[in-house]
This record gives sequence, C-alpha cells and structure tokens, in this order.
Amino acid sequence: MIKSKHLFHNADKYVNPDKVLLWELTRKEVRESLEKGSIKAAILPTGSTEQHNEHLALCTDFAMATMISQQVALRSYPNAIVSTPCPVGYAPYHMGRKGTLTLRKETFQAYVFDVLESLTAHGINTILVVNGHAGNHAPIQDMLSNWRTDLGITLDLVSYWQVLSDEDLNQYVPTHKKYRAGVNHAAEFETSVVQAAWPERVRSVNMNEYDDAKLDYDKEADASFAKFYIRHFGKPYYGDGNENITDRTRQEQALCSNPENGLALIGIATEKISKILDRMICASESGGTWPE
Ligand SMILES: [Zn+2]
Repeated sequence: MIKSKHLFHNADKYVNPDKVLLWELTRKEVRESLEKGSIKAAILPTGSTEQHNEHLALCTDFAMATMISQQVALRSYPNAIVSTPCPVGYAPYHMGRKGTLTLRKETFQAYVFDVLESLTAHGINTILVVNGHAGNHAPIQDMLSNWRTDLGITLDLVSYWQVLSDEDLNQYVPTHKKYRAGVNHAAEFETSVVQAAWPERVRSVNMNEYDDAKLDYDKEADASFAKFYIRHFGKPYYGDGNENITDRTRQEQALCSNPENGLALIGIATEKISKILDRMICASESGGTWPE
C-alpha cells in the first residue's frame, strides 16, 4: 500500500481501497452496483512473473499493473472496478533467468480475451487493459481491433509507462537523460516505482555482490532451458553476446533509483491513465467511437 496524501483519495474523501477490487467484492455487491449503474468501466491489469535482475521481486510487473489500476479506480470511484490481474504473461525471452514463468503467446491472448468477454457478459461496456510488462504489449495490441469488433465495447490498452512524457522521465529518471533508456527493464525506473510502493520488494545488491555471483547469460543454455527454448522458438538457444553487458548495466542503473521519484511517477501515470479512462467512459455513454 502506498501512503501518500495524493493517493487513495476521491474528492477529498477516503475510499476503502478494497472497494474497487472485483475479487474482494461479493456477487451481491457487484450486482447491486451494476444495477445502480455505478460501475461504468472495468480495468484489467496484465503483468508477468519474471526475473527483474538481482534486486526486484518477481511480482514487479503484475503488482505494478494492479496497483496503478487500483489508483485509477480509486480516483474515479465508484465508476471503475479492477478485474483480477493476469499474473503470468508473455516472457519466453526471460526464461534463461531463474524464476521466470511464461505463457505461450496464444494462451496469453486467449486468457485476456476470455476475461474481457466475462466482464462484457456482465454488461460492462468499457474496459481498459493496464499492462505492466513490455512483452505483453504487442500480443494484446495486435488483437485489439478484432476484440473491439467481437465484443462491441469501448476497449483499449495502455502500458503504464507509455503515458510518461520525455519531460517526466528527464525529471524523475536521471539515467533516462544520460542514456536515453531510463524506462528499462529492472533498471532505475522500475526500481524507483517499486521502492515507492513496496520498499520490501527491493533488495539491496551492490555491484561487488553482483560481480561476485559471476553470472554468465551469454553462455550456452543449460539442458532444461535449452529444451524449453527449442520447444518455444523451434531453434537452439544462443546468446547474442550482449546479454551480460545489458544485465550488468541494468543492475548499475538501478542504483540510481529514488523512492520520491517513484512516487511522483506513479502519481503522473495514475492521473494520465485516469484521463484516458474518463474519455472512454464518455465515449461509451455518448455512443461515440473509440479510439476517438
Ligand atoms: Zn518489469
């Protein structure tokens, strides 16, 4: 939970954060809210259970997507409900690092569609997918216009970091300015936002510890990963020769993280995504087209 006077507020009144989470409600509560017309939209968080270098918990992407979704729903309370998050995504390329889970692309797309269809079946006609893992973006984006047609609803996708402008990043992700790569897997950006939201999910790892672990992700895959890779990609695994330098750079950039910057970034993302959701609700209510 985030403790900030800017968050968990709606028009200056406190809202119990559980009130916007579908899975915390009873069928009676959902039914009555739908009958009253107070639920106008759903937000579906999609994430991943995957390696985030040496220091971040594997839940980072689905935890962030869920938390931002919850913040957005609280801001527009009681208009939006957060659907149960998709905690495993499309991440086969992270499988060489221990702990990662992945779905096949088709499984992931089918899962997301089935949840969207379930929400639509309850009469919810506006749904925003808030995504927390880069590898999920294209598999959803590719299906979006088909799904809009199939379901007949106002539907969109936003990966939460996409709404941040260059100015936001220059201000709150210093390594972005330096390397033009601040929004980067497990590097400064993600470490700052996780530090802000759940400091216990960021372990302290310095570069001596990193180097002492003698990690080598350019070497040949071990037997179990090699088997997975061939099944998944139809060819043997080979590192591209940049894996180790990329991995180490991320670890180094993560050391520039700062929870105050993370809090600011969460606030900006929440505000901008809330505005997208408001416009979607408007489009549904006025019978307008989406995308605008
Ligand atoms: Zn991530």
